[in-house]
Amino acid sequence: MDKRIEMEGVIAPFEARYLRDGICVVAGPCSAESERQMLETARGLSDIGIKIFRAGVWKPRTKPGGFEGIGSPALAWLKKVKRQTGMLVGTEVANARHLRQVLAAGLDFIWIGARTTANPFAVQEIADELATLPAARRDALAVLVKNPVNPDIELWVGALQRIYNSGIRRLAAIHRGFSSYAEVFYRNSPLWRIPIELHRRMPGMTIFCDPSHIAGRRDLILPLCRQALDMRFDGLFIESHCAPDDALSDARQQLTPGALAEVVASLGVRDGGSDGGALLAQLREQIDDIDSQLLELLSRRMTVSRKIGQLKRREGMSVVQPQRYDELMRQRSSQALTAGLDPAFTRSILASIHEESVRQQLTPSDTE
Ligand code: PEP
Ligand code: MN
Repeated sequence: MDKRIEMEGVIAPFEARYLRDGICVVAGPCSAESERQMLETARGLSDIGIKIFRAGVWKPRTKPGGFEGIGSPALAWLKKVKRQTGMLVGTEVANARHLRQVLAAGLDFIWIGARTTANPFAVQEIADELATLPAARRDALAVLVKNPVNPDIELWVGALQRIYNSGIRRLAAIHRGFSSYAEVFYRNSPLWRIPIELHRRMPGMTIFCDPSHIAGRRDLILPLCRQALDMRFDGLFIESHCAPDDALSDARQQLTPGALAEVVASLGVRDGGSDGGALLAQLREQIDDIDSQLLELLSRRMTVSRKIGQLKRREGMSVVQPQRYDELMRQRSSQALTAGLDPAFTRSILASIHEESVRQQLTPSDTE
């Protein structure tokens, strides 16, 4: 298991006074499109108690021909939002040139997008530029790092480390899901185990959930926010537009400020000290107990696999026998279906167990 990574001095990117009803919510349009759209959206968000505003100035589009953002002229609109509403404001940067312009405009935070996190050269270029900042500016600037588009936790960890090494301490991660060839339900698969593993490795790191880019559509935003808060994510990073249907990018996933207010209101604040908290503790005990039993069973299964390995070696038989594997998968899958388990989930568990079993069979014991 990979070690925990100590990141001494890392603090939450935003102070408590910028929370909204106990939840840290960053919201704003996918793209800055016009001064009118920015100010109208910002006023709407400010009216519902949001205090941290996002808007994409440079937009990384997967294919040419899409709206690539207004670019640096839009920075003036972000400054105006800050002046008029008092919100903290930030945008995405993908290189040192963007960063220099953002700093000159006096923005409060930046985020590194999913396509950029996947590129260590680009992240290092941004980190090198951050390292040149005067200490006071570096201490004040918050940097949020989205997960890379591909499900590679090491790239995410590496990007956070590069930014940390530049001296940034207001640091956070954003989980925005992972692109996959087969996904049909979500725009980007959440693969929750990856942000959970990030949390295990970097316990002090603030982690936001970006339900907008996971969902790709409005109606899934609320359930995703619920799930994220149940899993103890520290905040939400959500796209909101004054007229979502007319948005120049990500129209289907943006909420009006009014709709966002309803989402946030229905989330409520969970305190853990209530009856719900006690019940949760009991259920967790049951989970701990079941997990111990699972591990014990797996260990017994591997002991049997090693014995089979010894026997096959003695008899000169091959370790992998495809017919037996196919038969086993078929039989277990139908058993799993009867037990109410998801077939794809069952297949992936059985494939991992089989892979480990083969490894065990191939390892000769000391007594052989
Ligand atoms: C965005 O936040 O608008 C964006 C482009 O996100 P991502 O990098 O997650 O695709
Ligand atoms: Mn977007």
